[in-house]
Amino acid sequence: MEKLAIFGGTPIRTSKIGYGRQWIDDEDIKAVSDVLNGDYLTCGPKVTECEQAIAKYVGAKYCTMCANGTAALHIAMLAAGVGAGDEVITTPLTFAASANCALYVGAKVVFADIDKDTYEVDPDDIERKITNKTKAIVSVDFTGQTANLDKIIEICKKHNIILIEDGAQSFGSSYEGKKVGSIADITTFSFHPVKSITCGEGGAVTTNNDEFGKRIALFARHGITHDEKLMKEAPHEGPWYYEQIELGYNYRLTDFQAALLLSQLKKIDRFKNRRDEIVKIYDEELSKIPEIKLQKYTEGSDTFRHLYIIQLDLNKLKCTRRQAYDALSAEGIQCQIHYVPVYWFPYYEKLGYKKGLCPNAENVYDSIMSIPIFPLMNDKDVNDVIMSLKKVINYYKK
Ligand SMILES: *Cc1c(COP(=O)(O)O)cnc(C)c1O
Repeated sequence: MEKLAIFGGTPIRTSKIGYGRQWIDDEDIKAVSDVLNGDYLTCGPKVTECEQAIAKYVGAKYCTMCANGTAALHIAMLAAGVGAGDEVITTPLTFAASANCALYVGAKVVFADIDKDTYEVDPDDIERKITNKTKAIVSVDFTGQTANLDKIIEICKKHNIILIEDGAQSFGSSYEGKKVGSIADITTFSFHPVKSITCGEGGAVTTNNDEFGKRIALFARHGITHDEKLMKEAPHEGPWYYEQIELGYNYRLTDFQAALLLSQLKKIDRFKNRRDEIVKIYDEELSKIPEIKLQKYTEGSDTFRHLYIIQLDLNKLKCTRRQAYDALSAEGIQCQIHYVPVYWFPYYEKLGYKKGLCPNAENVYDSIMSIPIFPLMNDKDVNDVIMSLKKVINYYKK
């Protein structure tokens, strides 16, 4: 048996490969430098152009760009009118922001468990957790694929609940032929460097609902409006006059970030195709390994795959997840674990959440790893990941 690098053997790779990274090229850099040489660093035309391009791309009537995906979730909550006394249902297997946004506005977070095969929030458990205080559901597109949105939309309609889709990981994905961003009442996106396309830090909120569309724009810009139709006193003092009609925030995106995002958007099909190719190779090769279980696809989802997760069958292995993770790291494959269930964090524990709340999410968390996937990976990189996995699993299998 081949000696693992962690025990002094030769590693598969000497340079480490991480689970995700951006792809910035000269065209992107020129787009940014053009803006830096121009008149507007912020509050200029690029942000508007970007909003229109994203609205068009996802098929939504309204798009507001904002500072990041967390700000996007915060203003989605505000626009939806979520506040003190309300409950918001979300999944624990997500980045903390999906739940924190409810706390920002004084609401209570209720965690619904995941489906143990797709890892997406389980509509049946959502329904069990609904009370007369439930105001919104934050459905997270974990790994880039949507949950069973047909069922979740049906539940929302039945109980008069607002559906907010956290699409931070799914910009470019579709569900039943419709792009994420045009399906839920409100959808939020992130453009952090590991996401589909990036502008460093950035976010967007999209909707087809007229009232939400206007409120989202307001909350991202201090609650200030220049629109006479929304003003109380207009027309008033003169052309400089504007009004603050809500308590909003400065969640603006800059023009040079918007220019970068517009440049990235041109390449999204290329990014998706490469991710699809990698997924195909992983699916084919890794499904042959009995010690690994793969994430099941959501029916009807055409996924811009953000994360590729493997679940170790620890009953068939003589190692812990930590040992497999360390061994892979020594081979040059730097995996990541997405995610520690949100309510396990000390902050949530302090609020009274207890372990055991969502058994499926906890079981899945115990044995998963996100392996590298990003469009800049070449065939050798992909092969190195597969070779390393086979090497480590061969070593540890019972
Ligand atoms: C990345 C991410 C966020 C937060 O986005 P930021 O731009 O980093 O603020 C929120 N939810 C999910 C599911 C994410 O993956």
